[in-house]
This record gives sequence, structure tokens and C-alpha cells, in this order.
Amino acid sequence: MRNTVNIAGVEVDSITMSQAVDKLKLFIKEDKAHAIYTPNAEIVMEAYKDEGLRSILNQADMLIADGAGVVLASRILGLNLPEKVSGIDLVRNSFSMDIGRKTRYFFFGGKPGVAEAAAENILASHPNIEIVGCRNGYFSKEEVPGIIEEINRAKPDILLVALGAPKQEKWIHENKDKLKAKVCIGVGGSLDVFAGKVKLAPERMRKAGFEWLYRLYQEPWRYKRMLRLPKFMLLTVGIKLKLVK
Ligand code: UDP
Repeated sequence: MRNTVNIAGVEVDSITMSQAVDKLKLFIKEDKAHAIYTPNAEIVMEAYKDEGLRSILNQADMLIADGAGVVLASRILGLNLPEKVSGIDLVRNSFSMDIGRKTRYFFFGGKPGVAEAAAENILASHPNIEIVGCRNGYFSKEEVPGIIEEINRAKPDILLVALGAPKQEKWIHENKDKLKAKVCIGVGGSLDVFAGKVKLAPERMRKAGFEWLYRLYQEPWRYKRMLRLPKFMLLTVGIKLKLVK
């Protein structure tokens, strides 16, 4: 049973990082594909306006709060999510998870060469996992059946889908039933980080909830998308005061 809280119409799991890792382990043992999405405030805001995206997020098997903004919103609403469980940290923690054998990963997404570079870096520090396939994230509609076949032949436990949000959520939702992966996780730009192409904010900054500020500094062209963050906070206050639904 999931214990979720409703944030602007999106059912986010009220879960700690260690509970999320335990759930991931359970998903791997079950005989079906599970979807995990990792929305930050920008995506929750987008889902508030887009019913289709909201419905996709609400059909996830696990939905974790990827940003300080979502956790803050939960506090404003009096729903108190226990902590931020970011997608990249969940994936990182999964690399040292014990499932009694090597966990099998497929990396799908990023520019050509990024998934392979990420795989090489990760294997250097985590020889206890297997990376059973890599595929860049640029493809036509016609190529999708071939990509699914490639993934299914590799039989991963965990498929990381790094196409950016909300493209990756839509892709997973549309193809989940055809995929022979146990878990599909939408991970945004995580493969770029693992490949060493993009730097994450320093740990102290992330802990203090300012990862978005670092991101803005690194990728200033994101400012338009990021303007959703203050709008999201206003929306949350509006919901709290029952000014909007
Ligand atoms: N990407 C992709 N295919 C696409 C569009 C984007 O593989 O058609 C990749 C892109 O190369 C980058 C990631 O998706 O690695 C998007 O990262 P971003 O940081 O924009 O995602 P966010 O975390 O904002 O969802």
C-alpha cells in the first residue's frame, strides 16, 4: 500500500530514502514493469495545468519528491513529506543495493556517447552491478519498437530513462506494458551527471535546498522554466488558503 500526500493534484509518496530503496528492491522481485517518476516543483506545476501529465504521474508505482520545492510545498500544506528523495540519489543508492546478485541496468537517454560514458564511470566505482545496455535518447517514432526490443533482449532490472521531463514520463507510460524491465525510472539529466558532463550542486547547497540556484548558475537558459518555481509556491499558498483548488 502506498502512503501518499496530494500536492497540487499529484500524489507524492510520503517516504524516506531508505524506504524508497527497500521498495525498489521489492519491485525488482515482482513480475511486472513498475514506473517510478521523480517530479520536482517545475513538473508538479506543469502537471497541475496538464491533466494528461497529472494522470500519468498519478499512475506511477512510486512518485518521489525530487526537489526542496516539493518538500516545502508539503510543509506549507501541512502534509510534511519526511524528506527530499531525489531521483539521482535514489539511483546512486541503488548501485550499492544488495539483491543477492548483480543488479542489471539499462541506460537509455542523453546525447550519443553519454550513456556509455556514464556506464564506464559508474562501473569503475561499482563493480558489483551490471550495465546490460546503453542507448542514446534521440530517436524517431519508427525506431521505438527496435529500442524496446533492444531493452527486452538485455533484460534489465532497472531501466533508467533520461529524456528530460515530461518526455521520459510519457515514454515510460506509453511503453511500460511492452517493456521487460522490472523498474523504469525517469531520471532527467542524471546520465549527464554520471558521465561528468554536468556538475551537481555541492552537497551543502543541495542539503540546504538551493540546488535550483546552482542549476540556474550553470544553465542560465533555464530561467524561463524555473520561473515556475515561485509560481508553484504561490499556488501552494493559494491551495492552503482555499483560494484555488
Ligand atoms: N534528452 C534526450 N532526448 C531528447 C531530449 C533530451 O535524450 O529528445 C536528454 C538530454 O540529452 C539530457 C536529458 O535528456 O541528457 C534532459 O536533461 P534535463 O536536465 O533537461 O532534464 P530535466 O532534469 O530538466 O528533466
